Amino acid sequence: MQELEDLGSAYSLASWDEQTYCAERGREARGHLLATLATVRHERIVDDAYGAALDELSSDGAWLSGEQRAMVRVAKQARDRDVKVPKDLVRALAEQRSRASRAWLAARPANDFASFAPELAKLVRLKVEEADALAFDHRYDALLDDFEPGMTVARLDPILDGLRDELVPFVRRVLDAPSPDRGFLDGPYDQAGQLELMQRILAAVGFDFAAGRQDLSAHPFCGGPSRRDVRLTTRVYDSLEPGSLFSSLHEMGHGLYEQGLAGFERTAIGHAPSLGLHESQSRFWENVVGRSQAFWQHFLPVAQDVFPGELGGVSVDRFVRAVNRVARSAIRVDADEVTYNLHILLRYELEKELVEERLAVADLPGAWRERMQSYLGYTPRDDAEGVLQDIHWADGLFGYFPTYTLGNLYAAAITERMRGDLDLDAHVGRGEFGPVLRWLRERIHGQGFVRPAEDLMVEVTGKPLGHAPFMRYLEAKYGELYDL
Ligand code: ZN
Repeated sequence: MQELEDLGSAYSLASWDEQTYCAERGREARGHLLATLATVRHERIVDDAYGAALDELSSDGAWLSGEQRAMVRVAKQARDRDVKVPKDLVRALAEQRSRASRAWLAARPANDFASFAPELAKLVRLKVEEADALAFDHRYDALLDDFEPGMTVARLDPILDGLRDELVPFVRRVLDAPSPDRGFLDGPYDQAGQLELMQRILAAVGFDFAAGRQDLSAHPFCGGPSRRDVRLTTRVYDSLEPGSLFSSLHEMGHGLYEQGLAGFERTAIGHAPSLGLHESQSRFWENVVGRSQAFWQHFLPVAQDVFPGELGGVSVDRFVRAVNRVARSAIRVDADEVTYNLHILLRYELEKELVEERLAVADLPGAWRERMQSYLGYTPRDDAEGVLQDIHWADGLFGYFPTYTLGNLYAAAITERMRGDLDLDAHVGRGEFGPVLRWLRERIHGQGFVRPAEDLMVEVTGKPLGHAPFMRYLEAKYGELYDL
């Protein structure tokens, strides 16, 4: 188990480096390296002796501790998944992901979907082969299960349908209200100053820079080789928003979760039980806390200290309204938290159709434009701000997008429960992040993957997953901000 974790760590480190410091001409070789690491890990995981040991421990493991039993269960589930996928397919997938990602990197700035489409079509074909080899009841479930273990289309569809039915009219109500002034966020803000501000905020909230760092990359993410070496990345623009500020708070949320898993290093349960639950922590810090009145009561003076000319005369109220502005927009990563989930619903539906072979890759740009218009009332100018905007599909990440919306739903449910135990706004307004972080560490981060995400959520919140807490959160917050 430790060797498998170490191979996974080597993969994470090489992948982090690929996206931060790898030389342009080194990218192809890096693709081979990552493919080899994935293949070696696959060989180790499907090894018969390892399988026999796991079988023995799961049938005769009464002497194991509860945590050890969880390790065996999680390791066995991961192995069962890998055993079903042939070695040649694993290598073909890794290499095609690398080729498709390179094609996407060239196609996006050139607004050239046609050059990317053949590589994407080959990748979709391989993902379909993978899903069929995994043999779930529903083909898409096989891909979803890799990111959100235990979640199914049958569970997800009614939750997301319920969300859409309430969210589409809610978005219209918000968009009909007068839009707040946000001109002062455009800057230009000095980029070094923005990075300094972020480091101060991250350290104050509790990100441990002795167990992590922050660098620049085209697409912000949280990675790194271990829970004591967490690598955050961000991207900086001249504007404050969109920019590094909230993307850094987002990745910090992931990083705080990772640092909180340090008790289970080099074991199968030293991970979040699902990406959706991981995302709940990034959304909590980015949106629930990071875009709250209380947070800026505390941090606006710090920001004004770094940017006295740009933010000197801005009140907390004006700042908070500006960073919570709701708008029709093309780009998911820059979308506000209200319209964001409509961007996800669109991707969820399209990728399900691709995998079920009800939609051809060539028809993707048109289908994208149609759905953007019907959900958000916005038609992308071109494919660069449409179907080419995200790296996920080029990287073979099908079944991943819904975890973003699950993160929002989990975060809202967790926050409702947390407010029953502590006065969140009072603590945040005074810059006391310790009690908030401790609450999360004890109930969520420190639990690792001892239980599946939904079981852990039921234990923490007392309720099964639904869209209601998230809609209550939006109604309360935006009702006040937009005087609805
Ligand atoms: Zn995230």
